[in-house]
Amino acid sequence: MICVKCGKKEAIHKGLCTDCTWESAEISRPGSLSHVSCPKCGAVRVGNSWSHNHGRKHWEKKAIETFSINEPFKITGGEFIETNHRRDFIELKITASMDGDIREFSYTLPYSEDKISCPTCNKITGSYFEAKVQIRGMIGEITDRMTALGQELVNFVENNRKTDHESFISKIENVKDGIDIYLGKRKDGDAFAKSVKSKDICTVVISNTLAGVRDGKQFFRFTYLVRILDYKPGSVLFINGRKYIYQGRQSGGLYLIDVEKEKEVFINKKSIDFSRIHATGEIAEKRRYVIISRQNGETTMMDKNNFSQITVKGEYSGEECDMFVLDGILFNVRSE
Ligand SMILES: [Zn+2]
Ligand SMILES: [Zn+2]
Repeated sequence: MICVKCGKKEAIHKGLCTDCTWESAEISRPGSLSHVSCPKCGAVRVGNSWSHNHGRKHWEKKAIETFSINEPFKITGGEFIETNHRRDFIELKITASMDGDIREFSYTLPYSEDKISCPTCNKITGSYFEAKVQIRGMIGEITDRMTALGQELVNFVENNRKTDHESFISKIENVKDGIDIYLGKRKDGDAFAKSVKSKDICTVVISNTLAGVRDGKQFFRFTYLVRILDYKPGSVLFINGRKYIYQGRQSGGLYLIDVEKEKEVFINKKSIDFSRIHATGEIAEKRRYVIISRQNGETTMMDKNNFSQITVKGEYSGEECDMFVLDGILFNVRSE
C-alpha cells in the first residue's frame, strides 16, 4: 500500500509512510530550564531533592524527562550540547523513535543557573548534629592519644561522606579534659564507638536526650563518651589498691610492673575496671644505663648521667638499656 499523503512511499502507519507519519510528531517541551546548585558542595537540585553525586547527570536526565511526544512516537533520549557564552540559553538534542526509526530534534531553550546552599550544607553551618563523640582520657587533659583518636574519627566520617552526604562533622571542640566531635549522623558515632571499643582499651558510655520532634517522631541526640587509657609509660597507678608502674599497652591489655613484688604483669583488657584505676600523679623516671656486666642472673649497670652503678635482677642484653626509676629502685622498660 502506498502512502495516502505523498503517494510515493510505502505506507506503514494508518496509511502513511514513515516520513509523512513523522510530520505529525509533536514534541512538547519545557519553556525554560533552570539549574540550581550548592556553592559549597556542588550538589544539584533535581526536582524536590538534591543530588550530591553526579548531580549534573541527574539534572540532565530529569530535564529530558520533561519533554513528551504524541503517539505512536516515543522519546528515547537526549543530549545536552552546550550553553551560550552568557549561559542564558542551552542547546540540546532530543531523540525520538517510531517502530525503530529514530529522529533527532534540536532545541535551544532559555536557561538559568543559580547557587543556593543545599540542606546538608545548611545543617553543617547551622551546627546540626545527631550525635556527639566525647573523647576523654584518664588524666583530665588533652593527650596525643586523644588527638590521634579524634583524627581517626574525622577520617572515618570523611570516608563515609563519599557515599553518604549526610555523614559530616559540624563541630570539633577542644574542652578542658578532652575533645567533643559533633556528627551529622548518629550511625557514624555508633560505628566509631564500636570499632574503638573492639581495638582499643577504653570504656564507652552511650546516653541520649530528647531533642525534639522530627517528621512526627521523637528525635534523640546521642552522646558517645569514649574514655581511653592514655597514661604515659612510667605513670604510677593504683589498681585495686596495689601500686603499679604502667609500662605500655597492646590491643589485648596492659603491661604493668607490680612495684611491691618487682614483677611484670599483664592485665587482660576484659578484666580492667576503669573505676578502680587511679593515677597517683607520680611518674617513674626513665633513665639510660650502660651495661657493665651480667652474671648469675644479675646485671650490673651504670647510670649514663651520674655514673652511679647498680646491680639488678635479671640478665639484660645489649650494651645499653632504659630503666624506670622509682624511689631508687630500677624497673624494666618494655620496648614498644
Ligand atoms: Zn508519505
Ligand atoms: Zn551543599
